[in-house]
Amino acid sequence: MLALDLRQSSWRSAIVALDGSLHEPQYKRHRSRRAQVVLSNLQREVQRAKQQYGARLQLVSLAVPGTVRDNRLMQAPTLEWVEQDLTQVTAGVDVPLLAGNDATLSGVAEARTGAAAGAGTAVHLIIEVGIGGTLLIDGVPAQGAAGAGGEYGHMPFGDRARACPCGARGCWDLEIDGRALARYLKEPTPDDPVGYTEQVLRRTDRAARAAVTKVVAALGYGIAGLVNAHDPDVVTIGSLAIPLRAAAEDTFAEAYLSGLMTFHRSAPPPVLAATHQPDGPLRGAAALAVDQLTSEPAIATWVAQR
Ligand SMILES: [Zn+2]
Repeated sequence: MLALDLRQSSWRSAIVALDGSLHEPQYKRHRSRRAQVVLSNLQREVQRAKQQYGARLQLVSLAVPGTVRDNRLMQAPTLEWVEQDLTQVTAGVDVPLLAGNDATLSGVAEARTGAAAGAGTAVHLIIEVGIGGTLLIDGVPAQGAAGAGGEYGHMPFGDRARACPCGARGCWDLEIDGRALARYLKEPTPDDPVGYTEQVLRRTDRAARAAVTKVVAALGYGIAGLVNAHDPDVVTIGSLAIPLRAAAEDTFAEAYLSGLMTFHRSAPPPVLAATHQPDGPLRGAAALAVDQLTSEPAIATWVAQR
């Protein structure tokens, strides 16, 4: 199997063995971020793996930074792509594609072998541009009817007066990333909210600290809302959520506790830092590829073909 992880400025790949282990890892930066260029590069990587492994290449599992339904990328704000058919990545090779959201897949990695390993119910969240995540039951993500579940950033935990690029109003996304920090600091909306957040986190002035505190409070309240909704054993957080919380731990703890229903407060689910950074999406893509290839229908098909 081949696992691919498409990021805003780069992509990674690895060959996946049947035990889920990753081999021959590769990392390449995009020279161009245009969809056709990037998807052609991924297609070439699939063709290279096919030449090398032949019939042993049974599946391609792809993580993307956006909403995926039935192998179509519906929205990818960080890449600024419009709707894309991801199956062009496997065009020309007779190998099925399994495309999924990167935050969902990093949650799978945490639930299988990371900070949420062994948890019956887990919620995983990452902040980059906005917030993404997934609910996991026994290590399996709840992906909805066609794979687009877990868009927690578009729950109305924010200001209803504010329109989100997703088309909804009052989204949590607009309260917890670099765009929110810029708003509080009365600076223009950053082109790169991730880099901007890292820059604000390095600042020590009072205005920057106050902006970070507001964002961390919004994170804590939102996580409490998800705990009230899902009653998880554990919450894992990744990417910028880790340094943001660390920058205002007391604010986070206070917001988290005060947002919980009373019965949760005596033993609130721990909010743990994700351990698979930055290869969570690749590991999660690998895990779901193994699930698919070792499922009963897949094995029955394989036996019938022998
Ligand atoms: Zn939204």
